[in-house]
Amino acid sequence: MSSNFSRSNSYLKPIFLFISVLFVSGLYAQGQRNFHFEGPAILIHGGAGTIKREYLSEEKAAEYHEALNAVLTLGYDGLAKGSNGMDVVVACLTALENDPHFNAGKGAVFNDQGIVELDASVMNGKSLQAGAVAGLQHIKNPAQLARRVMDSTAHVLLMSDGAEEFAKTQKVEFVDNEYFLTPRRKEQYERWEANKKNGTVGVVVLDAEGNVYAGTSTGGMMGKKYGRVGDVPIIGAGTYADNEGAAVSCTGHGEYYIRNNVAFQINARMKWGGKLLDEAAYITIFDVLNAQEGNGGMIGISPDGSATWTFNSAGMYRGAKGVESHTGKLMSTTAIFEE
Ligand code: ASP
Repeated sequence: MSSNFSRSNSYLKPIFLFISVLFVSGLYAQGQRNFHFEGPAILIHGGAGTIKREYLSEEKAAEYHEALNAVLTLGYDGLAKGSNGMDVVVACLTALENDPHFNAGKGAVFNDQGIVELDASVMNGKSLQAGAVAGLQHIKNPAQLARRVMDSTAHVLLMSDGAEEFAKTQKVEFVDNEYFLTPRRKEQYERWEANKKNGTVGVVVLDAEGNVYAGTSTGGMMGKKYGRVGDVPIIGAGTYADNEGAAVSCTGHGEYYIRNNVAFQINARMKWGGKLLDEAAYITIFDVLNAQEGNGGMIGISPDGSATWTFNSAGMYRGAKGVESHTGKLMSTTAIFEE
């Protein structure tokens, strides 16, 4: 679908959407909301995964909204004060990792050996510098270590023992693997065959300087093979940021996100394909991933203030905060299910 199609025939979009739901991806949900902010803004996600209304009580849903709101406030207040976007991304990812509701840091899912292995990455859209870590078992906040890989090494991605060896030279907190385990995950693990859970947390921001940054952190997929690395620490797959495109953080079935280089694909469609962010996300998630039955979603923000969340899963924990251009008012919103 070209950008002209979607701009001049915008009334056709819902029809196209409906037809594609029926014929292309009968199993998949469609969710996209687009924003336009002026000044700094933040979008976050707390994973897609198997979010079913019938399994999420109202009280539990309220807890998720509260958790997402707290992180939006933390991030937006930082941005409004003029904090650097990378500082805000790492602070928000740290808060999400420390919150056991989400599949990152504490509360992350187990691999097939009952161990938690964590992946994370961050990227600076101005400099294109990036840092990532994979297969961590003892680092409390993987996003902090990913940032240190970016800032203090000549590399982009460090994995497992080598990453933890590097962590000893940095000011990051070590914990026993049991720290990450929660009773809920233990119970899920015991029946993981029936519950291929995924989650992940992500943050994208536009800071007061006009630069975009992205970061993502995860325990991966429940019951994943020991040593499996997902899309999250693969720059271009689960995370990418470029001031000439957008900051993007993804969640979903990581193998599809790696094969399709989803975060970079969205950027490429913008940078060289002339698409707007929402169009690039729409095509990538609904056309490309639906055709492969690749489940998940993304959040993204561009230096011009345009932003989107787009997902083909039944739901995605998510939120956005910033001053909307058309009202000039500060807006903050969180959501869980499809819209
Ligand atoms: N994308 C993550 C992974 O495959 C999982 C998720 O987002 O839920 O590791």
